[in-house]
Amino acid sequence: MASTVYFVGLRAENEHNTVISRLKRCAQRLLEGRLSSGDLVAVKLHFGERGNHGFIRPIFVRAIVEVIRDMGGKPFLTDTNTLYTGFRHNAVDHLETALFHGFGYPSVPAPVVIADGLRGKDHEWVEVALKHFSRVSIASAILEADFLFVLTHVKGHIEAGLGGALKNVGMGCASRIGKQMQHGGTFLPAPNEEKCIGCERCIVHCPPKALFLDAHGKAKVNPELCIGCAECLLYCPTGAIDASWSAKSEILQERMVEYAFGVLKGKREKAVFVNFLLDISPDCDCAPWHDASLVPDIGILGSTDIVAIDQASGDLVQRAEGLAHSKLGRPLLPGEDKFLAVHPTALWQRQIDYAAELGLGNKEYVLEEM
Ligand code: SF4
Ligand code: SF4
Repeated sequence: MASTVYFVGLRAENEHNTVISRLKRCAQRLLEGRLSSGDLVAVKLHFGERGNHGFIRPIFVRAIVEVIRDMGGKPFLTDTNTLYTGFRHNAVDHLETALFHGFGYPSVPAPVVIADGLRGKDHEWVEVALKHFSRVSIASAILEADFLFVLTHVKGHIEAGLGGALKNVGMGCASRIGKQMQHGGTFLPAPNEEKCIGCERCIVHCPPKALFLDAHGKAKVNPELCIGCAECLLYCPTGAIDASWSAKSEILQERMVEYAFGVLKGKREKAVFVNFLLDISPDCDCAPWHDASLVPDIGILGSTDIVAIDQASGDLVQRAEGLAHSKLGRPLLPGEDKFLAVHPTALWQRQIDYAAELGLGNKEYVLEEM
């Protein structure tokens, strides 16, 4: 049987039927019969890297938090620290960034808890016994929470193709060790000497300091240190680092899904998902910039099925018209793949297929308008 995915459209013609009031009704529908009074609810989101403005607006998060509170839950906002050296690399910088982006009590009445602690080391192992991993390392506060409410800004992603709920849960709830496990060996950069201008941006942002400039001022990589995180690719301004690792992208996606499996193990009836199809940029909110949307804003989806909601998100983006004044560079037709157009080696459907194979949800869905 197909799973239900609720759709909150963006039309609103009077104050009695706003997008926020329908988002709240959607959240209530998702929580009914699942949330217990007193549950500690981890509201998993991404606070956005400094310089990025595509993250979910605090006003939407506030609406969700109010519903959780009204229904007896105890919400806290949460995310994990990053591998790369940005402004969310440790809990102090991360909390300051969250406040900087409006996630403080005056806007959103819930505390922020960085799920993997001060330096990303607070984690627990979960047995999964799957193809890539026998066990996975998950941030403690995510595992210890009674309930997981996942808020995802849907966008493109340089390695996964689609950044949806599966990625938010799989990569976003992993500890630092877990993130390294997912990236390990999936990508080894080979900077092109002709294109490299020696700007050192890749070196500054490489988490394990695997890059250096040679005597000629060209970037080189130490394969012994590289963890394959692809941050250098994201930051290189000249395209000197090649992205041709199509088979490796699928491995990363499968690993990510195995992590999502570990996060949701024991929480299948205590997890719900809301995807925001707004400001659908080519790159993720970890980038310290936000590029123009690939397609017009679509709406907000809600479901108890992580596979169905990501499949619906991918389908709706593909059905939309591609915007020429974006990274696409031309007006793609409905039906053309917008994510593949900007990340041609990242076959994003693989993460959804694999999640369905593992029984995490159903690719068949029906959209129900709120
Ligand atoms: S892919 Fe390797 S070289 Fe590039 S940033 Fe990550 S660890 Fe550093
Ligand atoms: S970011 Fe690109 S151009 Fe700059 S040093 Fe690294 S490889 Fe060279």
